[in-house]
Amino acid sequence: MLSDEKRNRFLQLLKESTKDEWVWMSGYLAAITQASIAGSSVDVSLTPPVSIDSGTEGNLKTQPIQCSVVYGTETGNSKKLGTELVKKLKELGVSAKLKSTDTYKAKDLKEEEYLFVIVSTHGDGEPPQAAKPFIQILVDSKESLSKVKFAVLGLGDTSYPLFCQTGEDVDSMLSKLGAERIQPLGKCDVDFDLVAKPWMSELISKLNTHSKTATSQTSKPTQAPAAKPASGGKVVYEGSVVTNIVLNDVGASKSTRHIEIKTTVPIDYQPGDSAGFLAYNRDEEVNRILSLLKTDRETRVTYKGETWMAYDLFRKKVSVRFLPDRVIQKYAGLVGKEIPSGKTDLDVLLTLHTSENKLELQSLVDILEPIVPRYYSIASSPSAHGEDEVHLTVAEVEIETFTGLKSGFCSGFLAELKEGDVVPFFIQRNNSFRLPSPDTDIIMIGPGTGIAPFRSFLFEREQNSGNGRNWLFFGERNFVSDFYYQTELLELMDTGVLHKLNAAFSRDTKQKVYVQDRMGENAAELLKWIENGAVIYLCGSKDPMSKDVDRKLIEILTERTFDTEKDASDYLKELEEMGRYIKDVY
Ligand code: NAP
Repeated sequence: MLSDEKRNRFLQLLKESTKDEWVWMSGYLAAITQASIAGSSVDVSLTPPVSIDSGTEGNLKTQPIQCSVVYGTETGNSKKLGTELVKKLKELGVSAKLKSTDTYKAKDLKEEEYLFVIVSTHGDGEPPQAAKPFIQILVDSKESLSKVKFAVLGLGDTSYPLFCQTGEDVDSMLSKLGAERIQPLGKCDVDFDLVAKPWMSELISKLNTHSKTATSQTSKPTQAPAAKPASGGKVVYEGSVVTNIVLNDVGASKSTRHIEIKTTVPIDYQPGDSAGFLAYNRDEEVNRILSLLKTDRETRVTYKGETWMAYDLFRKKVSVRFLPDRVIQKYAGLVGKEIPSGKTDLDVLLTLHTSENKLELQSLVDILEPIVPRYYSIASSPSAHGEDEVHLTVAEVEIETFTGLKSGFCSGFLAELKEGDVVPFFIQRNNSFRLPSPDTDIIMIGPGTGIAPFRSFLFEREQNSGNGRNWLFFGERNFVSDFYYQTELLELMDTGVLHKLNAAFSRDTKQKVYVQDRMGENAAELLKWIENGAVIYLCGSKDPMSKDVDRKLIEILTERTFDTEKDASDYLKELEEMGRYIKDVY
């Protein structure tokens, strides 16, 4: 279709462009093609915005500018200014995230669109301790930041010779890396507002004139996931673990992990969805079973019509941990022995209850059940954390067996994953557990790992802000060791995303305090939010937590709004039916 000369120029351009530029070009082409099909005049200049007419609104949408405000602070002033700037940017309708220099991720740098750094200088021109990791990222960065626009505000003290040195260093490093300075470095003295306020106003008025439109296609996966369809039609993603940390602090009586898994393709999910995992049995456990069965790894065996190698079958397909009583009793039949009821593992059965005759491998395999997926609510937001990442909040469960406490099958498997390990997973949709319109208030009740979907909700709402307020009830055992995502939650409060946070720590006091106690203490306001149309979400353990929260809501409604408990309970049911009281409990 193209002449040779045009084709060569086109291919040359593609060769010289990055993947991100291809995405931009394909979005640009899709938009002008769409507009031309719709009959509107198209201005083919190389600078967006692409002209959009009302007839094409369904395909084209305006995207807010994406800003990151990164603060490096010694005494809290840079953070205060950063928070103020984020608020102003949001008022402008711009998407803005507040980030700290000590937790900034190197991989985010080249992805930034607008990067605003507010950093103080300490003593004799030194960066504050918290800013050092960010400065190291700039020092180590080898990639061009030619797509990043930036501005730096330095805080300092003119009585020192190297006034605002760190601000100057960051400003010049970003420029040397190819980023585009959209405003000169601002240098604040001790009375920082004198310079900071006009510097921010100038920045805001500059951003006000920048607009950006693109096709909705640029933010959606343009590529079919390079992942296999699982049985049941689900797409199985191959993710690699980038973070696996314990959220609890030293001295905690439990262990809950934050796990981040990254893929090379976009993951099709929404806040509220879960990730499903098919864990493997441990290598040493499988080898123990094979040795007890006196069977080679390569021995062929049939399971549900498919032929397997014995090792692979025991490693990936059949469940050998916490066997239910129905399996134990079938095993008892096979070996001709009486075995008491209770959960136990296959290797324990094979050790304690041996057969007088040789136990046939095939007969044993025939009574075993397949490994079933375990689901974990996703704790990340595709808009905030990227479409190629899912985050999980996983409690390491301990299960009582014949032979003592053992770690949970899937939570143990996930806990042992190391950075770089590849793990397959799929998305389990939860269409009833969705955010309402951005202007609706939400009340989130999430003790323990129940906080996971609400972290996703809050980050999603930070990106797509509306007038809806957000209230979180969180509960765990101890304040000092178990306040998951505390720093993030406080930052979300500072930036006005999270409006109310009530935490209950059950094991800090003699008398246990639970989320429902905090709800009772805030009953009047809770009712006001509900009357105002708030949607209530509940996530976490089903029994007894979710039942007790139900009871508390009924109690609050009975005391303050309804004549009888029955009326209050009917009203709560009505809220459930209307999708205004939504639960994801396990
Ligand atoms: P949890 O055991 O539910 O504890 C969280 C907090 O809730 C603690 O302070 C606990 O207090 C408190 N609590 C206990 N009973 C309560 C009640 N009746 N009402 C209100 N609060 C109550 O925390 P978790 O670690 O999230 O464990 C939840 C369970 O869900 C685990 O057994 C896990 O197997 C399962 N699960 C987890 C996941 C996941 O990790 N994403 C997924 C599926 C299933 P006290 O303990 O001090 O009483």
